[in-house]
Formats: sequence, C-alpha cells, structure tokens
Amino acid sequence: METRETDVAIIGAGSAGLNARREVLRQGGEPILIESGPYGTTCARVGCMPSKLLIAAADVAHELSRANAFGLELADGFRVDGRAVMDRVRRERDRFVGFVVESTEAIPSEQWLRGRARFLGPTTLQVDDHTVVESKTVIVAAGSHPFVPPPFNKMREHMMVSDDVFELDDLPGSIAVIGTGIIALELGQAFHRLGVKVAFFNPFDELGPFTDPEVKQVVKAVLSAELTINLGSTVIDAEVVTDGIRLRWADADGGEHEDVFERVLVAAGRRPNLAGLDLEKTGLSLNEKGLPPLNPRTTQASDLPIFFAGDIDGHLPLLHEAADDGRIAGSNAALYPNVVAHIRRVPLAVAFTDPQMAMIGARYADLPEGGFAVGHVSFENQGRARVMGRNQGIGRIYADTSCCRLIGAEIFGPNVEHMAHLLAWSVQQGMSVQAALSMPFYHPVLEEGMRTAIRDLAANLQVLGGCPAEDLVETPGM
Ligand SMILES: Cc1cc2nc3c(=O)[nH]c(=O)nc-3n(C[C@H](O)[C@H](O)[C@H](O)COP(=O)(O)OP(=O)(O)OC[C@H]3O[C@@H](n4cnc5c(N)ncnc54)[C@H](O)[C@@H]3O)c2cc1C
Repeated sequence: METRETDVAIIGAGSAGLNARREVLRQGGEPILIESGPYGTTCARVGCMPSKLLIAAADVAHELSRANAFGLELADGFRVDGRAVMDRVRRERDRFVGFVVESTEAIPSEQWLRGRARFLGPTTLQVDDHTVVESKTVIVAAGSHPFVPPPFNKMREHMMVSDDVFELDDLPGSIAVIGTGIIALELGQAFHRLGVKVAFFNPFDELGPFTDPEVKQVVKAVLSAELTINLGSTVIDAEVVTDGIRLRWADADGGEHEDVFERVLVAAGRRPNLAGLDLEKTGLSLNEKGLPPLNPRTTQASDLPIFFAGDIDGHLPLLHEAADDGRIAGSNAALYPNVVAHIRRVPLAVAFTDPQMAMIGARYADLPEGGFAVGHVSFENQGRARVMGRNQGIGRIYADTSCCRLIGAEIFGPNVEHMAHLLAWSVQQGMSVQAALSMPFYHPVLEEGMRTAIRDLAANLQVLGGCPAEDLVETPGM
C-alpha cells in the first residue's frame, strides 16, 4: 500500500471537485483529486447537456407539429428518425464531455488518484486497496445517484435511470416514467414530443418544483392536457414480459389498471453518494440521511477539516451551485483553519419543460406569513406569448411588505429562463418593486408579462402613489 501526503484531498472529479481543485491551487495549496468513475462530470455526461440536447430535438418536432396553426402545411408531414435523434444527442454530448476529459487528463500525475475513496479517519483516506492519503483537509464532492424505489429496485437491469437514456440507440415505442419531478418531466415530455407513448406515475400529488398553490394548479391543468400523468397512483407490480415491462397500478381512486411499456424510466429523485464513504470514521455526527451538520456559507462539516461540495450536500442539486460550493470548499480547505463564510447567490432553478418552470429566491412555501405580497400574471393573454401561440402559464412574484423589495418568484411560462435571470439578479440586488418598474421594457416581449406581475405587486403593496415611475401607468394593448 502506497502512502501519499497532501494539503487537500478531493473526493470526486465532477463539477464541484474540479472547481475545488482549481481554487486550492489558486490559494497555493497542493490538491489530490480522487475519482472512481469515468471523467467528464455528471452535468456533461448524463445530466444538463445531453438532456437539453434531447429536449432541443423535441422542441423542433413540437414546432413542426403545430405548424398548421400558423397556416403552414408540411407537404408530407414529418417523420422522427429516432436513431438520428439519439445519434446527435450522443455526438454533441461527447464533444462537451471531450473538453472536460481533456482538461482533467491534463492534471499532473502527482495531483490525481484513480479509485474509490473512503475515510479511515477525519483526514485519512484509503483509495481502493492501493493507496492511503494523509491530508490536512478533505473535500467530499462525490455527487449523487438516481434513487430507485420498490418495486423497481429488484429489476435494475430491465429499467432505465436518467443515466441510461442517452445510451439508447433508438427511441422506444413507449415509456413509463416513474416520477414527476424536474428530470422526469424534462425527459418524459421530450420523449412524448418525439412520438413516444409516455405515461407518468407518482404516488404523490406533486408536479415539478413549485410550492405556490396557484402555480401548481395551472401546471397541473396545462401539463395534464398534453401528457398522461397519473398523480396519486401506486404501482402495485412490475413484471418483465417479452415485449417490455407490464405495470399494474392503482389510480388515485383505487381503480386498478395495467399496461405494457417497452421501457420504464425511473426518475424518482436523486440521493447523495454517501454509501461506502465510511463517514462515521470521521467522528462527525450524522443525521438520518447520513449527512453531518453543514454550513452552506463555508461548506464545512461541523468544526472538522472536512468540506462538502456539490450534489453530495443534498441541497440545491444544480450545476452552478456545485461550482460555487467547489470554489468555497477549495478556498476554505486550502486556507484551513482560516475558514471564511461566503455570501451565496440568490437561488435560481430552471426546468426546461415547455412551458418552462423557474424558481427564484424565496419559495412561496418559505415566505413569512403576513410579511409578503404577491403579484400575478397569466400568460394566456400576454401579447408576445399569444403572437408565438405559446400563451400558457402563470407567474407569481413575491415582495417583502415591510420594504417593498422583491424576494422571490415561481414562474411557469414560455421561455421564462430569461426573465428568471432578470428576477434573480433583481432579488440579489435588493431591488424594490418601484425600482423594477422604472427599468426599461421593450415591446412586444415576454418580459412585459413579468412587468404585469410587478405592477400587480405594486398595487397590492399600495406603493403606486409614492412611486414616480411612468411605467406604473397601464399601457393599452399589453
Ligand atoms: C438528467 C439531469 C439533468 C440535469 N440538468 C441540469 C440543468 O439543466 N441545470 C443544472 O444546473 N443542473 C442540472 N443537473 C444537475 C447537475 O448535473 C448536478 O447538480 C451537477 O452535475 C453535480 O455536480 P457534482 O460535482 O456534485 O457531482 P458529479 O459531477 O456527479 O461528480 C461526482 C464525482 O464523484 C465521483 N465519486 C463518487 N463517490 C466517489 C468515491 N467514493 N471516490 C472517488 N470518487 C467518487 C463520481 O464518480 C463522480 O465523478 C441535471 C442532472 C441530471 C441527472
């Protein structure tokens, strides 16, 4: 067994680990990056990028399928070439992964180790059965994995998780999607729009990330009109048959049904990769999920020289959060014991469904009772949305009643990824409702819908009289 000594041992060469390594070097520390799986990161290999590539194909198919609403006739309709779709997904995905692999492989050999790391003590790791690493500090950036609930956990080889989707050679004829969270909806809707028969199942009455009851209601109405969604359903049995998997389920009223699906995609959430890390050997007290107390502003676990970064911390499993965690952990681990609390960005999450979903700042469920006002917009009659024939959705924007500052929003609407950024930047800058309305708005754009909600907010906050902004005046035809 070889022994190596270093300043910072980093477990996981994903987005969090790679950013942590860069920061350790920037601070003058010596890192060792330990990776047990393939290089390339979850985001590039099986996450953000390939899922958006599949959705891009589905978007084009969807636009073609509604061409006649605009008076356009496709002479012979169009045909989805499933092999070509999946081929492009992989080709472009491999290009993104290639860049990451190339830069990871360029790391000098004294700064990396291949193998699975586990703790022997708070700052001692064993990597496979070949190396012991003695480090001054450790960063745990081991990521997450898809959660597979019963009865599917007994038939892993017959069902898919999101990692497997991008290896399909062709589009299947039918897919049962277990789950209705962001990953399930993004992938399931994309398959549906590419002509695959898709049915969603969830034992709970949850659809997407929203917590605002009014947004949830619109999401349910809009998505249920397009997709087959079985909320409140219980899968009783899953059986492998010659042409796929036979599912038997009870609907929300207890009625029993069965159908055969060529594929089952289990997208029922992700869990931190804690198994096998032997965290109990660090002396950290662990909660029922197996996680120690973590400070998101320092990423430090309790008061030990151990830091957690990325999906492993079970909080906001998003690429930019993983990168930020990595930078904070890298800096604090390199400068330990001088641990510094960093200011975190305003939370921002986007789901690339259609309509898109965005969560910005404080969630409705976390707003202080009696301390907030809501501004509302429906995209049904929003000018630009109607022009595009994509007039579905709702936006709800929240402000603090004591200071009239924007604090959060939940939005379901066309292309809201862009206004979600404007809102997140406004919330982070502590912008007031009046200041937001004094900003320029072009016409006709979807952001005018956001302005409608902020105007409504201004009216509800009764700041109309005190606000000099011209924009508070209703413009005809908006
Ligand atoms: C289908 C899908 C779509 C997504 N879409 C988006 C999106 O649109 N936007 C967005 O912001 N986020 C998206 N995400 C989330 C995003 O991909 C993750 O938040 C991000 O990749 C997490 O990075 P990480 O560094 O924490 O984990 P990873 O990149 O998974 O890195 C963890 C690494 O640790 C290694 N490892 C684990 N255990 C050990 C061990 N014991 N020893 C050594 N190595 C170990 C693993 O092999 C892995 O390489 C998506 C995720 C999925 C699955």
